[in-house]
Amino acid sequence: MIEQPKDYDATQLADFLPLGYDAVISKMEATLSSKRLAHCRGVEKTAIAIAKRYDQNVTQAGLAGLLHDYAKERRPEEFRDMIRIKQLDRDLLNYGNAVWHGVVGAEFVRDELKVTDPGILQAIRHHTVGSPLMSVLDKIVFVADYVEPGRDFPGVEAARKALATSLDEAVSYELTQTLLFLIKHHRSIYPQTFMTYNALATREDN
Ligand code: GDP
Ligand code: FE
Ligand code: FE
Repeated sequence: MIEQPKDYDATQLADFLPLGYDAVISKMEATLSSKRLAHCRGVEKTAIAIAKRYDQNVTQAGLAGLLHDYAKERRPEEFRDMIRIKQLDRDLLNYGNAVWHGVVGAEFVRDELKVTDPGILQAIRHHTVGSPLMSVLDKIVFVADYVEPGRDFPGVEAARKALATSLDEAVSYELTQTLLFLIKHHRSIYPQTFMTYNALATREDN
């Protein structure tokens, strides 16, 4: 039995998650591997800790963290259907799960879990590719995803160090690492990822 974090405000939780915490966990158990669910719980916990430090809404941040990868294990056809049904940008069809599970995944959270909070849905949409205009909540989920305790890859310690300095520092570090990784492996880059990078990069003086 998975317990909800004790930091959550009961009234807010009921507003953010009309189906209730236990029903949402059951839905996640049915649609995600146990490894992915453990990652989502790690991001929830980490998002709560960062939200506390930056005086943000702890319940909203934790839930956005919990739900960020909700659609990660759906089939490509489900994403393609959703892109058509919701009339999302057709260019999305040129990408794959890496980009879809966040940008399109938010629609699964809205439809299946009845989550309507724009802040949570936006943080899910932005959690992989960022955005030139990231809210503090977007940044919390973006970084928590990268540094949660279950993560173990080259660079994770440097990312945790950057977070100890500031949330913005950690966002910049993570985005740079992601772009370097994608280029190294010759993977296509979603234009919004570049736009996020340009918004953070040093401007040229001219
Ligand atoms: P995860 O869902 O917890 O594994 O983490 P993320 O949602 O942050 O990232 C999922 C994958 O998407 C990672 O392998 C990233 O390198 C990759 N990714 C991030 N941005 C882009 C992009 O612009 N294009 C592509 N193709 N992949 C990306
Ligand atoms: Fe993800
Ligand atoms: Fe994730």
